Amino acid sequence: MFLWNGELVSEEEIQVSYNDRGYYFGDGVYEVFRIYRGQLFEKQAHMKRLYQSMHLVRIHVPWDEEALAAKLDELAADFGNGDGYLYLQITRGAAPRTHTIPDQIDPVMLGYCEPYASPISQIKQGIPAMTTEDIRWHQCNIKSLNLLPNTLARQQAKEAGAEEAIFIREGMVTEGSASNLFIVTGGVIRTHPADRLILEGITRQVIERIAEEEGIPFENTACSQDELMAADEVFLTSTTREITPVISIDNQPIGSGTPGPVTRQLQEAFNRFKLVFDRKNILSIQ
Ligand code: PMP
Repeated sequence: MFLWNGELVSEEEIQVSYNDRGYYFGDGVYEVFRIYRGQLFEKQAHMKRLYQSMHLVRIHVPWDEEALAAKLDELAADFGNGDGYLYLQITRGAAPRTHTIPDQIDPVMLGYCEPYASPISQIKQGIPAMTTEDIRWHQCNIKSLNLLPNTLARQQAKEAGAEEAIFIREGMVTEGSASNLFIVTGGVIRTHPADRLILEGITRQVIERIAEEEGIPFENTACSQDELMAADEVFLTSTTREITPVISIDNQPIGSGTPGPVTRQLQEAFNRFKLVFDRKNILSIQ
């Protein structure tokens, strides 16, 4: 089933207008929720970010957070008990093409679930990454459909044999093309502050909580490209990649060139966090 403008429908019932502003301008926002054993992981945090994105681009939906969250639960229930992700996007709606925002326009919402499993070997062994110039706008905190710089960067990485592109803005590391980036130096975790130059990842929020519980110092300060290359450990986080070690950047090994101890400690803590989430849901279902 698909979630289409607030209703669960079959694929045949979905009709997107050629006048949809998502199609013309990328005028819309989206979220990717992880589903572990049929349950939406960190649902409230994703909902909050979605409504914040809509607020910042001035898209108004007729559903409040709670009503929409209930619809997403229905969609996830239809998906079953497996592992996967839920993709949700909301465009401003359809109207004859004009740059200004039409007065009367109804947003268009599409959601669906797909089976998905984490890339275990990458999470265990780590990945090569490359750096590239951050050519994006100054509102990267909005999870907007405008992903052309991100897709071009990822393609560039792929062609260089790397698994992620790391954005560099004026000599400073911002984030990955679809992930947040962290360095570990002298036992301290550092990542770019959650300002308008990065998307504040939901996984990033979990990492900050976990680091505190584990007693690992965590700093919200940007690092330079030189500090990145000289770090003891580098890792990235996202809903689909969880915590993935970065073992080389631009063909230079990072630290020992293998996943480091702080990254592995966080991975173990993250797995325990998921288990607690699982148990909570099993208890709430019973
Ligand atoms: N930054 C960017 C640019 C992203 O696309 C993503 C993936 N959505 C992230 C960071 C990580 O966010 P999350 O942990 O919520 O998946």
